Amino acid sequence: MHDAVIVGAGPAGSMAALELAKAGLDAALIDHRHRIGDKLCTGVIGAECADRFPVPPDLTYHRASSAVIHSPAGRRYTVEHPQTQALIVDRVAYIAGIAREAESRGAELRLGYTVRGVEKSADRVAIRASGAGEDRLFEGRLLIAASGFGHSLTKMAGLEPGNQRDFLMGCQAEVRVSDLDSTQVFLGQDVARSSFGWLVPTSPATALLGTISRSRDQSGLARLASRLRAQGGVTSDLAGVRHWGIPLKPIPKTYGERVMALGDAAGFAKPITGGGIYYAMLSGLLAARTAIDALDAEDFSAGFLSRYESAWKREFGDELRIGYYARMLFESMSDAQIELLMETFLSSEVQEQLINSPDFSFDRHSRTILRTVGHRRIARLIASFGPSVAPFLTRLLKSAVFLR
Ligand SMILES: Cc1cc2nc3c(=O)[nH]c(=O)nc-3n(C[C@H](O)[C@H](O)[C@H](O)COP(=O)(O)OP(=O)(O)OC[C@H]3O[C@@H](n4cnc5c(N)ncnc54)[C@H](O)[C@@H]3O)c2cc1C
Repeated sequence: MHDAVIVGAGPAGSMAALELAKAGLDAALIDHRHRIGDKLCTGVIGAECADRFPVPPDLTYHRASSAVIHSPAGRRYTVEHPQTQALIVDRVAYIAGIAREAESRGAELRLGYTVRGVEKSADRVAIRASGAGEDRLFEGRLLIAASGFGHSLTKMAGLEPGNQRDFLMGCQAEVRVSDLDSTQVFLGQDVARSSFGWLVPTSPATALLGTISRSRDQSGLARLASRLRAQGGVTSDLAGVRHWGIPLKPIPKTYGERVMALGDAAGFAKPITGGGIYYAMLSGLLAARTAIDALDAEDFSAGFLSRYESAWKREFGDELRIGYYARMLFESMSDAQIELLMETFLSSEVQEQLINSPDFSFDRHSRTILRTVGHRRIARLIASFGPSVAPFLTRLLKSAVFLR
């Protein structure tokens, strides 16, 4: 029997396996993919994430300290920071590297196996999987559920799914580009209803073009691609579009008897940008540390494992809560209101105060969000938008009171 069976070799599960293997524990890491890390993603991570979980230099495509933001009406604003804020990385190789390191330290890596069922008993959890033409039973003292977006595994493990409508749909394709030297972000209902689109360089000639929005409709991506093609920045047709979901809220309880849920399976993506790699890896680390303590204490009760939920809430709980209110505020605005907000927020004076401040972080948005709504000019402007924004502005202003 394994100490822990981890389902999902994405950033969350791979990090948990590595941490357990480093502690000398017996972990099995199962994934139905053969190519680890190859789920739909742009591969943008923040500087704090890269400091904490270093990326080998040959896997970094681009280091970004600036981006160009296109308003709904097509105005361009360049946002610049004195330091590197984000890295665009080869996500597949980055995550595979973590899983392979876990394997080299003793974790059992089982690729090509799909988990079909979970049964808990008094002394173990049994995970039924099929793959490689066989059915297999993996038994562990703990289950670490790191199966990404969607609720099938967490439900099998007895965890409540939460609001299943609260998610974003991302779609993305690789395109050929000319003269693209920085990340471009596109706002406006025409591109992505209540969200945004992006063009992120991955080499001098290629980029990832994508959108996230509440809607499954991909026509915004097609419109964005035609616009950029007509302007000459994108030089290939849109083809090979893939789509996948991004959770917006944590599930009600991320632990239960003999189980912890992490990463997207637990609902840990940043609500503003949909970025989830960093919090997935942090949750992997925190779940592994709780697992080590539980194995030491021989206590796999929900009460003991609740330490994991306290730990992730301390680490990034406020980020998820405040980011969610900020997303709701943003979603309640019309294009014309976003246009006005951008004019003020991205003016050089306000950029200097908010974006160039040491508080600004690509990995943690809450301080900048709270300082933004606490900024006199911006607060007055948002309040003038009327009752549709009021509930979310009020919640954020209440949170801003606690800003140290
Ligand atoms: C279009 C798009 C772009 C994105 N871009 C970024 C970005 O630039 N930066 C960023 O930080 N985040 C980004 N994200 C989000 C990010 O990809 C996820 O938050 C992150 O991958 C979550 O990691 P995870 O380990 O929780 O899950 P995943 O990476 O989804 O890994 C889960 C794994 O579990 C496996 N699995 C699932 N079910 C089973 C089963 N029953 N049996 C066996 N295996 C199973 C899957 O094969 C998968 O490999 C993006 C998301 C989308 C949709």
